[in-house]
Amino acid sequence: MPAADAPAPPPAAVPCRAHKFGGSSLADAGRIAHVARLLQDAPEPQQVVVASAMAGVTDALIALADAARSGGEWAPALEALHARHRAAADSLLGPSHPLHAWLDAQFAELGELLRAVGLLREPGRAALERIHGLGEVLSSRLLQAHLQAFGADYAWLDARSVLQVRHGELGAIVDWDASRARLAAWRQAHSQPRVVATGFVAAGPDGLPTVLGRNGSDYSGAIFAVLFEAAELHIWTDVDGVLSADPRVVPEAVPLAAMSYREACELAYFGAKVIHPQTMTPAIARDLPILIRNTFNPGFPGTRIDARGDASGPVKGLTLNEQLALVSLEGAGLIGVPGTAERMFAALHRAGVSVVMISQGSSEHSICAVVRAPDAQAAQAALREAFARELACGQVQGVEALAGISVLAAVGDGMAGTPGVAAQLFGALARARVNIRAIAQGASERNISVAIAAADGARALRAAHAAFWLSPQTIALAVIGPGKVGAALLDQIQEALPRLRREANVDLRLRALAGSRRMWTFAHGDGADWRARMDPAQARATDLPALARHLLDSHLPHAVIVDCSASDAVAAHYADWLAAGIHVITPNKQAGAGPLARYRAIRAAQARSGARFRYEATVGAGLPVISTLRDLLDTGDQLLAVDGLFSGTLAWLFNRHDGRTPFSELVRQAHALGYTEPDPRDDLSGTDVARKLVILAREAGLPLSLEDVTVESLVPEALRSADRDGFMAALEAMDAPMQARLETARAQGGVLRYVAHLDADGRAGVALRILPADHAFAHLRLTDNCVQFTTRRYHANPLIVQGPGAGPEVTAAGVFSDLLRLCAALGARL
Ligand code: ADP
Ligand code: ASP
Ligand code: MG
Repeated sequence: MPAADAPAPPPAAVPCRAHKFGGSSLADAGRIAHVARLLQDAPEPQQVVVASAMAGVTDALIALADAARSGGEWAPALEALHARHRAAADSLLGPSHPLHAWLDAQFAELGELLRAVGLLREPGRAALERIHGLGEVLSSRLLQAHLQAFGADYAWLDARSVLQVRHGELGAIVDWDASRARLAAWRQAHSQPRVVATGFVAAGPDGLPTVLGRNGSDYSGAIFAVLFEAAELHIWTDVDGVLSADPRVVPEAVPLAAMSYREACELAYFGAKVIHPQTMTPAIARDLPILIRNTFNPGFPGTRIDARGDASGPVKGLTLNEQLALVSLEGAGLIGVPGTAERMFAALHRAGVSVVMISQGSSEHSICAVVRAPDAQAAQAALREAFARELACGQVQGVEALAGISVLAAVGDGMAGTPGVAAQLFGALARARVNIRAIAQGASERNISVAIAAADGARALRAAHAAFWLSPQTIALAVIGPGKVGAALLDQIQEALPRLRREANVDLRLRALAGSRRMWTFAHGDGADWRARMDPAQARATDLPALARHLLDSHLPHAVIVDCSASDAVAAHYADWLAAGIHVITPNKQAGAGPLARYRAIRAAQARSGARFRYEATVGAGLPVISTLRDLLDTGDQLLAVDGLFSGTLAWLFNRHDGRTPFSELVRQAHALGYTEPDPRDDLSGTDVARKLVILAREAGLPLSLEDVTVESLVPEALRSADRDGFMAALEAMDAPMQARLETARAQGGVLRYVAHLDADGRAGVALRILPADHAFAHLRLTDNCVQFTTRRYHANPLIVQGPGAGPEVTAAGVFSDLLRLCAALGARL
């Protein structure tokens, strides 16, 4: 445990501190020795140290008692427990220490107790609790003996002979007077300034051993802190303090520096397991500060809980309470009838069911309560009985119990009076596709709770955590088609990721990669270079529905598929993905320009689920063409016409075509430079340009299809059906007609350009045209694209978007900017 050597912050001069160590801090001899060092190094002259059982021991004791009670076998498990303690004692104290005899006696007695339980089969509470509490007796004694063996004088306090409690409905209630009197008596014989005490156990009013409830050692810590008049209670555990959420569900959870008692109560009650809720009561009464600290990182200050707290941020932390059920009472007859809630809670109370959360709409038509899952049946039965008359006459339609519920709660003093916190929470859950079943906010406004399906729990917690800036927005990403554009995109993302995490609070996790035949799915979305992760041995046959399921299974709040293929078969999945809440981003034109019915299905799926479909890079690669058109339309402008050069390939060919080099030679050069598709006819046919025009038309609300666009193909009739090599060999056939077109243009003082045109009535065409030599399209360079929007506002002088419109790098950048816009919409700080 190297962290143990880290220097502790300079301690304030305090005469007495209470320290409570959880089971994880005392799990074995090594850890107990580490705790002993930590205590000896602490500066305060007086200490009361409260020990939990070694990790897992209470569970083991409960299992032993249950086995004995049900007539099962318990001897081997008892021996295993004995062996574990014997080994710890051996290592801490050596084999001949007198504590061994004491340990043997304890285990002999435990054996007797178990035998008695086995005989009785119906043992009383006292017998069971006596067994359950033995773990603390053993661990505290080991710790004390070890300290003593190293010359540190610590007394051992068995709480069963000092602490007196009785059990009330809300848990164990301390009899302070009796406990103080007994402590004073105990002190007569044990005057050492430092004491190790058993956690969890106490004596009942009858003097018999009892326990304070699961995780009750925190409570013991607070009680002993009060009894010993300590100035602080340090609760030592295995994490850096109270974290903003359960770190097992949200690995990015951050430790909180300070919080108020009220916040700690809310968090603890709602499932932040780091501190037991009851602990706060004695601490609040005496204004006793509680520090949650990490045994394995003692140099870290941890979380300070006191009356003041700190005022940073509206939400301090989030909790997820699991294994709950929703019980609801519904009926028109409840409207305006006073006393329904009272009858409902009285019935639940009589049935011994505790209510975690309540919610009633203002219509009073239904009222629901969240209860612990094991109580759901009893709750339902109790309500059916209490409302039997109303059920019989139809005033109440039903009493339903819905299992599989979790409650997510956002907690923070700063929420009171801060508008928008609920909206932020609900918005985050909606974007993460989490359905909310019931909502409750206490009038204190310190807690907003929502009941959700248990299956959504982890995703909801992570989404909410990110929404309050407590961790980055995490997005599960799949990339289909790692060809030129896909590879450039993955490189760009990989390079940008550290900055995005740091500055924009976004974390993109690559969860899947798919080619047309093989795909890779990754359990963890981060890690090695994406190329290194495409290990042929790990590949499986491409199965796009399985890829989508894998993305959704990840518990990450958001999922996005980036399709960098040019495949129509991939586009056929978009509607399903969007309907499932997966965002789709693509430079693939198949969906935007494909069958109108499919395009409409995609739009409908998107509207229903709220998932986004973005395809900026389908027109003009990285140029902001579609977003410009959207902005024009969304701000109320009206599109009159679109004109443009949409093909970098054709732009390059006609920029160079001056009559000196044959057209066929230019096509060959463009092909060699990678400016054309593998088969240059894909460019020369004009279809690609027509597709882009269809995409823009649809974006502007015109129901255009590819068939509606008149397309002039530059591929001579005779070469259309040849194979690619045949076509390339016969390219010269284009030279004479192209030369003739050029001369006609020159005769008119114009230039040849392959242009697209769309007007507001949906008339659309792409063709090689003669433009005046001073036309904007006549002076473009290289592979530049140019899109000209004529609108009501940009009428006399159209709005032009111009620049390089082809190439993997710029196309990938267009896709990436779509991805970042999506991240911003999901709550990233972009
Ligand atoms: P101990 O053995 O010290 O009593 P517990 O297991 O009872 O420890 O509590 C500590 C554990 O609580 C942590 O290891 C962590 O996994 C869990 N936990 C759940 N929610 C939170 C939270 N909000 N902050 C810190 N820890 C939490
Ligand atoms: N050992 C007890 C339990 O596991 C008490 C505690 O550790 O807080 O519940
Ligand atoms: Mg605990």
